[in-house]
Amino acid sequence: MPTVSVIPSALSVSILPAPGSLPEQAFQLAIHQADLAISITDPQANILFANDTFCQLTGYQRHEVVGRNESVLSSKTTPRDLYQRMWATLSAQRPWSGRLLNQRKDGSTYLAELHISPIVDRQGQISHFLGMHRDITHLNNLEIEVKGQKALIESVIDTTPMALIYLDLQGRILLDNQEYKKLVSDLGTREPLHLLLEEALPGWMNALHESPERCVLNKREVRIDRPQKRPRWFSINTRLIQPDESFPMPPPLSLHGGWLVIISDITDLHEEQEKARAAGLQAVMAEEERMSAIREGLSAAAFRLEEPINVMSSALSLLRRREPATAEMLQDALNTSREHLQHLREIIPPHSHEQPSVVNMNEVLRDVLEINTPKLLAAGVVVDWKPASTLPGMMGRPIQLRMLFKALIDNAIEAMNTKGWNQRELYVTTRVENDLLQVDITDTGPGIPQEWRQKAFEPFFTAKGRSGRHIGTGLPRAQHIVSDHGGILDLESAPGGGCLAHVEFRINGDPI
Ligand code: FAD
Repeated sequence: MPTVSVIPSALSVSILPAPGSLPEQAFQLAIHQADLAISITDPQANILFANDTFCQLTGYQRHEVVGRNESVLSSKTTPRDLYQRMWATLSAQRPWSGRLLNQRKDGSTYLAELHISPIVDRQGQISHFLGMHRDITHLNNLEIEVKGQKALIESVIDTTPMALIYLDLQGRILLDNQEYKKLVSDLGTREPLHLLLEEALPGWMNALHESPERCVLNKREVRIDRPQKRPRWFSINTRLIQPDESFPMPPPLSLHGGWLVIISDITDLHEEQEKARAAGLQAVMAEEERMSAIREGLSAAAFRLEEPINVMSSALSLLRRREPATAEMLQDALNTSREHLQHLREIIPPHSHEQPSVVNMNEVLRDVLEINTPKLLAAGVVVDWKPASTLPGMMGRPIQLRMLFKALIDNAIEAMNTKGWNQRELYVTTRVENDLLQVDITDTGPGIPQEWRQKAFEPFFTAKGRSGRHIGTGLPRAQHIVSDHGGILDLESAPGGGCLAHVEFRINGDPI
């Protein structure tokens, strides 16, 4: 069993246990078997003592190092200024710690984590140095590997085309990636995550504490409107990450788990879908318009045929007494006409029975403006669209409502699109007052004369080609749709002289 016989007497006084408190042998065993390479040097770093672990780690036998300078371990690759800093610290009687690349007796190298403490004698002079080091090559390799993996994971996360954010359970952001940082500048808001989560799940911050299960979002779509820019669409997924007891993560990630939020920008996809939806909608509306035109044409024809049939019917009662033979012929003609009229009525296409559903009027108007964009551009009409920031949903027939507003906007465009008419502005606003949802469509056309405001809603009334003043088309159909939804439609004079079509629905009213 090796001994600490080389420890000078002065040192032995300070590091050996007080007599009787700990057997000296136990102390020596502890020093030698410590999991650290321990050496004691004189003030010039000449080794006076080395424990067993020192010998095992360096490959030197004790007698081969005792008396030699600690520099025997130097691999001669450590920068000189590091030693200079080490010695400056030690000379100031302060301990020094650091990492050095050491060389064993056999020439192999290892990374040493070294701690040196100066030992000061009663005169305040450095009498010895206590050096303790251990081989951290493996640990260092692991660190390098972990750092490499971390860098790899970070670069993968940073190149992911989705914003990734990790939140603690209180909703504080602990980690984010490049894509999220891009979102910060794109949306011009300090913490876009808060904005998006508030849209996806109003009151999310409270929900995190009160009902975390509500915070698990699956492809929740959110729309963000920005002034003068196209709206952006995002799909939000959130997952609760439970702490893995078997693999504790370093703080602050370890705490109590957290939330992973994944945000994908789906604006392009959404625009494509919107285009397809608008095209489908346009086709449905065009078909509906065609059917309405046929229905109205046939109804008008039936309406007009009734007039001569009524005249024939009156003439028949007179003829019956005077010329029964002629009356007989007229009766036959009348019967045939009534039969034809009946056939005509039978082929009038019935109204389509669209099922009511919850409708957002802003969306309806946005669709109609979108569909009418080419027409508005062609007529040089400038649109001022002022939707209420939020609108409650109301029960309605989505296609019919779109037909209604399309008819009103078509009328407005038609009114302004006359030769020489320069003022071409269309104002569309939505608002809620009490339990009424109101839509105003105002044009800067020539307006509608007072005497025609009621007549305009009569079937088959047309003012076209009369005084050049505008009345518009499709108003009876529009009014039919409005009253179907329990609402009212008024035509008024706009303050600037144009026409203001005012539509009003009860929010809680059911369509008939
Ligand atoms: P050196 O000529 O020994 O020293 C380089 C510079 O250090 C010099 O220019 C000088 O400015 C300064 N310096 C050296 N000795 C002193 C001194 N006594 N007082 C003030 N400044 C001084 N080195 C290792 O590489 N690996 C080790 O594991 C290691 N363990 C050590 C343990 C202890 C307890 C002590 C005290 C030192 C240890 N050293 C170790 C440092 C070692 O003593 C050498 O200083 C170092 O290895 C550089 O050796 P060198 O021959 O290249 O240069």
